Amino acid sequence: MSEVKGVLVIGEVSDGKLLGVTRELLGIGRKLADTLGEHLSAAILGAQLGDLGKELVAYGADKAYLVQDPLLAQENADAYVAAAEKVVRQVQPNVLLLGQTVLGRDISPRLATRLGTALAPDCVELAIDPATKLLHMTRPVYGGNARAIYVCEKARPQMATVRPKAFSVLERNDARAGEVVQLAAGLDPAQVRVKVLDRQKKASEGLRLEDARVVVTGGRGMGGPENFKYLDELAKTLKGAVGASRAVCDAGWVSPSLQIGLTGKVVTPDLYITVGISGASQHMAGCSGSKVIVAINKDPDANIFKEARYGVVGDWKQVLPALTEKVKELVQG
Ligand SMILES: Cc1cc2nc3c(=O)[nH]c(=O)nc-3n(C[C@H](O)[C@H](O)[C@H](O)COP(=O)(O)OP(=O)(O)OC[C@H]3O[C@@H](n4cnc5c(N)ncnc54)[C@H](O)[C@@H]3O)c2cc1C
Repeated sequence: MSEVKGVLVIGEVSDGKLLGVTRELLGIGRKLADTLGEHLSAAILGAQLGDLGKELVAYGADKAYLVQDPLLAQENADAYVAAAEKVVRQVQPNVLLLGQTVLGRDISPRLATRLGTALAPDCVELAIDPATKLLHMTRPVYGGNARAIYVCEKARPQMATVRPKAFSVLERNDARAGEVVQLAAGLDPAQVRVKVLDRQKKASEGLRLEDARVVVTGGRGMGGPENFKYLDELAKTLKGAVGASRAVCDAGWVSPSLQIGLTGKVVTPDLYITVGISGASQHMAGCSGSKVIVAINKDPDANIFKEARYGVVGDWKQVLPALTEKVKELVQG
């Protein structure tokens, strides 16, 4: 791409609302654009986007593109890649950011290939190098045990997906000035090879794991699915959510949707309590961004104690009920 300029964020909409990660993308996008002295554009794709352009501006965009097409009614990667490519070619950004979401993971490598650029996925830090003005894209590697900084020297746009909750959101300002542009995606049904026949939403009770400020996670040391009720009780008392290790999900003790880790969900709560979890690097890849990790494990040599700020060496059957009772007392004041 020649003559590239500015930062472009491709956001996501769910049930008519901007996803949290879209607001976070606008927060970091604004910071990068200001550092570069360039503008911030944001695009969202869908069939009916209503007034969301104003919201993109209120959260930091100088220019909001609403890319609408009936074929974008469902999250269909073929349609989304084609529409995203259209808006990127129109905006010609220097920096392109998407969320590391289910859709973002699906479309970003395909989009990078079409644009002839590289992609740094799952970034947790983004900064402009003051000397070179290049984007430094930092992401966890080796199952979360190290961080690598990537730089895209030649190809444009410099492209990254960002991990949800890794960046903060700007305060909403409805008085911010910005332009909202309607852009027809002009999709050809022949471009869309995948047909979505049905979409089933799993009814979930309580908080989404990714949104919870407290997560209580159980591992194989819990001994069986019947014991997860003790985790539920502590999570409920702390207004949090329950997660699980892959060992537990693979054993069918709990739903795979609770899995945290390299091949599961990534969470960054204020408080992450692990019970009967060894702390394998693949598990830590999903929770190492938590502010405080507390571990309960009967093995004093378990790796989790190297990762946790606070640890209790003991059998959860003794420790957990006592902890829950104490927390209840404190919560009730
Ligand atoms: C490619 C790949 C991807 C992976 N992705 C993931 C992932 O996304 N998420 C994930 O979690 N794992 C993942 N894994 C698996 C990971 O390597 C570990 O096998 C898994 O995390 C172990 O789960 P665990 O800690 O529950 O079980 P274990 O490793 O078996 O640990 C159980 C712990 O419970 C303790 N314990 C036992 N009884 C008690 C008791 N009564 N009280 C207190 N403590 C007790 C034990 O001391 C032990 O430390 C992946 C592996 C691979 C190869």
